[in-house]
Amino acid sequence: MKRFIFLMVLFLLAPHSPAAEYRTVLLISVDALHPDAVSKENSPNIMSLAEKGAYSPFAKSSNPPKTLIAHTAMLTGLQPTENGKTDNIWQNGEPTVSNPTLLSTAKSKGYQTCLIYSKQKLGYLKNSATDTEIFAKDDAIEKTAEILDTSKKQFIFLHISGLDTEGPVSGWMSPEYIDEFRFIDEQLEALFTKAFKSPSVLIIVTSDHAGHDKIHGSDHPEDFKRPLAVYSSLKKINHIPESALQINGLKNFIEEEF
Ligand SMILES: [Zn+2]
Repeated sequence: MKRFIFLMVLFLLAPHSPAAEYRTVLLISVDALHPDAVSKENSPNIMSLAEKGAYSPFAKSSNPPKTLIAHTAMLTGLQPTENGKTDNIWQNGEPTVSNPTLLSTAKSKGYQTCLIYSKQKLGYLKNSATDTEIFAKDDAIEKTAEILDTSKKQFIFLHISGLDTEGPVSGWMSPEYIDEFRFIDEQLEALFTKAFKSPSVLIIVTSDHAGHDKIHGSDHPEDFKRPLAVYSSLKKINHIPESALQINGLKNFIEEEF
């Protein structure tokens, strides 16, 4: 008993080791990506990440499942009715997001924060915690690889466009849509290779919504689907909790990893 008490006292007096910290955190949203498109054949780079980490095809979009509404819910951790962003439009010069975002949390934890997006209206997500903002319509992935610096603590949110234009033109899951997704996945390889050089990296790949036929943003169940892949170089993530599959639950899940 004495020995037990001695060990307990030692345990209580011992300095608690701080939680492991990521040097590099990448949150990547492939706009309009239907989980059915994610496969070894179509997206070997994303699948490799998912296999080393955790993956779910059952993440859900916001209601309604539209680009800016969904991304605002994703970054604020609040549903549209809670964060007030219930329309899908934004123009340069208009007020930006007022609720704290994941970039706010990252900044408070000492991360350099980057917001990189390929659809102008996502400029709405810029706030005072945004160190670097890049609007890159066609080369957002290359720009991200350029800005990624594994010698610094960085949090990067990357939004990739392409499927959101191919879906309405050629149809979700059409050969043209799949070709576009294969191209996006190929481009991600160089970014992942650079990120893996970081001493500690957390990479999340997800989407804002899916679609069906040539339609998205409706109340059709297919439109609400999203994939979610999570990879950590520090630990094996075996399971994605149900709460993280909700679009407003991803923020809390990532914050717990900071
Ligand atoms: Zn979208």
